[in-house]
Amino acid sequence: MRILTGIQSSGKPHLGNILGAIMPAIELSKKPGNESFLFIADLHTLTSLRDGEQIRANTLSIAAAWLAFGFDTEKNYFYRQSKLASFHTEIMWYLNCVTPYPMLANAHSFKDKSTQMANVNAGLFTYPVLQAADIVLYDAELIPVGKDQRQHIEMTRDMAGTFNRMAEKDIFVIPEASINESVMTIPGIDGNKMSKSLNNYIDIFLPEKDLLKQIKKIESDSTPLEDPKNPDADITFKLYQLIATPEQTAEMRENYLAGGYGYGHAKQALHGLMLEYFKEAREKFDYYMNNPKLIEEKLEIGEKKVEPIAAATLARVREVFKF
Ligand code: ATP
Ligand code: MG
Repeated sequence: MRILTGIQSSGKPHLGNILGAIMPAIELSKKPGNESFLFIADLHTLTSLRDGEQIRANTLSIAAAWLAFGFDTEKNYFYRQSKLASFHTEIMWYLNCVTPYPMLANAHSFKDKSTQMANVNAGLFTYPVLQAADIVLYDAELIPVGKDQRQHIEMTRDMAGTFNRMAEKDIFVIPEASINESVMTIPGIDGNKMSKSLNNYIDIFLPEKDLLKQIKKIESDSTPLEDPKNPDADITFKLYQLIATPEQTAEMRENYLAGGYGYGHAKQALHGLMLEYFKEAREKFDYYMNNPKLIEEKLEIGEKKVEPIAAATLARVREVFKF
């Protein structure tokens, strides 16, 4: 089975990306018979960030995060979208021309993001079409993503299906989303969806003290220390629950309900748990960040490997129009 997923280089890789996409995608890539295309969506990044130095730095840290969680780049495919930009954007154009305008206008992600941004560009609007191109270009079958991406994958299916009907031929594979239902859309420190572009994220790779500082910024209500607290309404508890064992979660729930246990205590506990749970990934991340050449090398090899696959799909598509 062919698996594909991407992460934008719009900021540092965060807990939401890791639990929503990176860990599930790597899990799938390890199954015998699967091959995975994991890429850095640096063309998508331009919808929110256009500073080259910043994009380069983010690209390195996203790539280091994939590697830190054990992605096998020899068996699989690892690349930057920008290095294959001509393929991605050409397919995007063909898809643009079979995509109804109202479908894009109704995208939740566009509506959410456009209300939070000062300048809304057309790239943000056509984002789902580029994403569809990323997927069909490599005949991907299964797309592990976070819940926030469910609608985009539905749109990809629509676009690919419409194109195939128009061509009267199965030009594109119709992909399916793989969404881990137990992983919700992970909230950021302000309670909105944790997002790189909203800068409300938890960066699990920070040095210990800085990580604690970030965790301390998680918003909480003003229930006094001695009073019982509602765990299910609290962001710190929600994040704790995501990585804790069921026993640890039950114990934390009791602490909240009993009173005398403050949000500060819960944050310390979350910090300790993160350091423990991500110990190996944190070490590997630092190793790769100190060896950027190694990352670059792996990406370059991947980019050479995917090119003929992209070229073959494009040839099939051009043939439809006699181009
Ligand atoms: P941006 O703010 O620039 O959109 P992002 O933080 O939303 O960045 P993306 O690169 O858009 O990250 O998404 C990469 C992957 O991470 C997607 O599969 C997406 O579903 C998943 N993801 C992103 N944020 C979350 C979240 N808060 N909870 C769970 N999964 C998430
Ligand atoms: Mg996003």
